Formats: sequence, structure tokens, C-alpha cells
Amino acid sequence: MSRVLDVYIDGGFVASAATATIPVTNPADQSVIVQAPYTTMDEINRAVAAAKAAFRQWRLVPASERARLLMVYQARLKEHQDEIAEILCQETGKTFADAQGDVWRGIEVVEQACNIPAMMMGETAENVARGIDTYSLIQPLGVCVGITPFNFPAMIPLWMFPMAIACGNTFVLKPSEQDPMTPNRLVELFYESGFPKDLVQLVHGGKEQVDALITHQDTKAISFVGSVAVGQHVYRTGTDNLKRVQCMAGAKNHMIIMPDADKNQVISALVGASVGAAGQRCMAISVAVFVGAAREWIPELKEAMAKVRPGAWDDNAAGYGPQISAAARERILGYIEKGKLEGATCLLDGSDCTVDGLPDGNWVGPTLFSDVTPEMTIYKDEIFGPVLVAGNVDSLDEAIQLINDNPYGNGTSIFTNSGGAARKFQSEIEVGQVGINIPIPVPLPFFSFTGWKNSFYGDQHAYGKQAVRFYTETKTITARWFSSDVVADANMTIALK
Ligand code: NAD
Repeated sequence: MSRVLDVYIDGGFVASAATATIPVTNPADQSVIVQAPYTTMDEINRAVAAAKAAFRQWRLVPASERARLLMVYQARLKEHQDEIAEILCQETGKTFADAQGDVWRGIEVVEQACNIPAMMMGETAENVARGIDTYSLIQPLGVCVGITPFNFPAMIPLWMFPMAIACGNTFVLKPSEQDPMTPNRLVELFYESGFPKDLVQLVHGGKEQVDALITHQDTKAISFVGSVAVGQHVYRTGTDNLKRVQCMAGAKNHMIIMPDADKNQVISALVGASVGAAGQRCMAISVAVFVGAAREWIPELKEAMAKVRPGAWDDNAAGYGPQISAAARERILGYIEKGKLEGATCLLDGSDCTVDGLPDGNWVGPTLFSDVTPEMTIYKDEIFGPVLVAGNVDSLDEAIQLINDNPYGNGTSIFTNSGGAARKFQSEIEVGQVGINIPIPVPLPFFSFTGWKNSFYGDQHAYGKQAVRFYTETKTITARWFSSDVVADANMTIALK
């Protein structure tokens, strides 16, 4: 059997006592790279206990010292960016450029976490009553938990534990069982940066391990990223157990194409945003809404999409890699079939895609449907593959209504040359992240990742200032001090009355 990945529990990386494991495969050829252990319940309990014990000391370390360690971590991640990207390519199949981007977007969050001293400052008001001051302290919570999806195995863990640690918490990370090698490397580099032991515990597994963490009496806050169904389960179970919970969930992101937009920009943006990263991005554009005469560009869009082909991670000509698993590929092919049965026009069909020399890979070619209407399954469900569905409307108002009626609200975009249309769109659209002539408007980490509706359950969002609020508690102090001077003042105050 292939090597079993270590876990980090109670003082260091160790082999898990688990007897059950999950094979981690190379999605380009199905070879098994490594096995991830289903961490035992005893190990989960030991991980939480070790994180709880480490919290007692870590919360006392000044924020500026915590920031200095994060600066070392940031530099170390940068040094190892390509090496991490290569590990990531092997287990996800992403192209090398995509994998480098995955790591880089995570490094940017670590960079932002280095600003923690200023982000954890409280407020002060002098003399709220005579001789009395009120001020607030921003304090960490304790043991926080992160549960992450397969599609960004570097970026999404790095959305979570660096911010939580910066705030003075400790952390238990349970990454996706489909690509756990990248998170292992991130945690190794974390400890190589000089952080004290036990701040971050790393466990592997699936539902049982997640459920143990989100119901454990000593975990305080849960960050989850993944599908809507699992997100709802984590949110309900976590909040029922009185945890603070944030769940970033699934999506169906629309791009509105106005007839006054720049056609070449539209086509190039649509191709990259729909099939890039094999469509396995929560901010991918999966619905194109053509307004009025813009629908005449659909044949050119089809031509441009047809030129993109998937391939292995080290094939420089490949536009994107394979789907993460054979099951994911089967699910996507099922949607393509359903789209045809439900009456959409399949202009480009990626079902029979093959790649030379890699007959067993999870390949799906670029797929384009037109004449898609809101009651069709391919419109309603998140397909999470390189499938773009296109529909037509007659006005901007109609396009806005369509998007506002959709239950998801992660990202959306408008392509137009009209400032008035863009302004109306940004004001009226009920989606949390909006692009204007930008297809995938993912905010940089000094903002927060602000999905809405069924794409997010919770209150405070990931990274930026909202992450600091999520990973901390505010304590408000009201203070009065007695001294002989103050007594004199008090007498004078009385005398003035
Ligand atoms: P997933 O929901 O299958 O898995 C996410 C995590 O939950 C994994 O760690 C997995 O082990 C765990 N899990 C799976 N089933 C579980 C269960 N029944 N109970 C408890 N835990 C369980 O998601 P995925 O397929 O890995 O990722 C793709 C999904 O993530 C897509 O829906 C995508 O839109 C979403 N996503 C959202 C964002 C965002 O910011 N909104 C970002 C990235 C991905």
C-alpha cells in the first residue's frame, strides 16, 4: 500500500493509529499517490486538548510578536511557492500556473495577517461619566476549527489558520480528504517558521471527523468552505452546539453581457472564467446572460471555447486540468445529458473528451449550452465543471431580476461600457461580490470574501477585518480610579454644582 500521510497531533507530525484510510489519486491517471488516514476519535480529542493547552500561552504573546512570526511564515511560503504548487498539481491535476495562483492567493492572506496589531485595537472613551473611562479589548476565542474543500487546497486553509493564529487563537485544520498533501506541507512550513508547538493541529478524514470537531465541547469557532448541503449541516450542527460558525458554500455565478460591451473582452473573459481551473471555482462564471443584440456573439464564444483543451499539469498548452475525481466527472456528464434532455441547445459538448497518453484521466471538454431557461436543472444546480449555460433576456432589468431570483449569491459580473448600467447593477443586484468588466471579482485580503444568500451562512465573512471580528471577542471595560487627587477633583465638582 502507498504511504499514509501523517497528522499533526499533540506536539508533532505522527502516524495516525487509524486503520481506515482514503486513497488520494492523481486525477490525470488515477494512480494512488498517498493514503489519508481517517483520524481516530481519540486522536481528535487529543488534538483539541493540545490546542486548548497551547492557547493558554499563545494568547499572552503580544500581537506584534505574533505578526513577526507570520512575516517569517509569509517569506517561507514565498520561497517554497513552486514546490507547494507542484505537490498541489499532483493531487488536484491543476495546471502549474493555476497551482501557483492558488498558493499565491493564500500567501496574500498571510501578508494581511501580519497587520494584526493594528487590526486588534479596541476603542476608548474618556469620561463617559465623571472620572469614569470605558475602553474595549479585542481578545481571542480559544480553539478554532477549519474544514476546507478540495478546490483550493492552499488558498482556503490559508484563509483560515493564519488569521485565527494572528488573533491569538489555536487551530485544528481538517482539510479535504481529496487533496490533503498540500495542507500537510503548509503546516510543516508553519512550524519551520518558528511558531511554538501545538498552535495548529492537522487531522484528516471526512464526515465523522468533521462532526466530532463541530460538536466538541472545547472548540469555539468553526470556519467551513464547501458545498451547500454540507455547509447547511455544519452551520446547523455547529450553531446547535453553540459555536460561532461561518460557512462559505456553493454558487451559481452569472455574467451579464450588455450589447454595448467590448465583444473581444467579453469572449476572452467568459472563456477563462467558465472553463478555467476545469470550472472548479466557487467564483467561476457558470451562467452567461446575453442582453438584446449581444446574443449574436454566442457563435464566436463557442469558437473560442472550442480552442481550449484540458491536459496534464506540466503540459504548457493545456488550458486546464482534469476534474478532481471520476465521480465528479460522472456527475458533470450526467448534467450535460440532462441539459440535452430538458431541451437546451448543446453547442459544444465536452462529454467525450480524451487526452493523448492519459486515457484514464477525469477529462471533460469545454461545454456550452444556449437557450437555457431558469427551470432547467443545468441552470438551477451548481455543476462545478467546465460547462457554461447561456440564456437571453431583453433588458438589464430582466437580467437583474433573473439573478436576484437565483438562490445563490457568491459572485456576479456585468460587461458594459455604460457607467449608468454598471451603477444600477451594483446597486440593485443581490449578490455579495460584484465585478464591473471583471469576470471573477474575488476581493484581495484587505477586504473580505463576502458571498450572500445560499452561498454563505453566518455573519462575519472570511479574511480581512471581518475575519478578525470572527476570530475574536470584544471585552468592554468601564473603570474608575480613586486617589487623593481624584477625591479633591470630586470635591471641586461637587463645589461647582
Ligand atoms: P464538500 O462539501 O464535499 O467538502 C467540504 C469539506 O466537508 C471537506 O473537508 C469534506 O471532508 C467535508 N465533508 C464532506 N461531506 C461531509 C459531511 N456529510 N459532513 C461533514 N463534513 C463533510 O465540498 P467540495 O466538493 O470539497 O468542494 C466544492 C464545493 O465547495 C463547491 O460547492 C464550491 O462552490 C464550494 N466552495 C465554496 C467557496 C466559497 O467561498 N463560497 C470556495 C470554494 C469552494
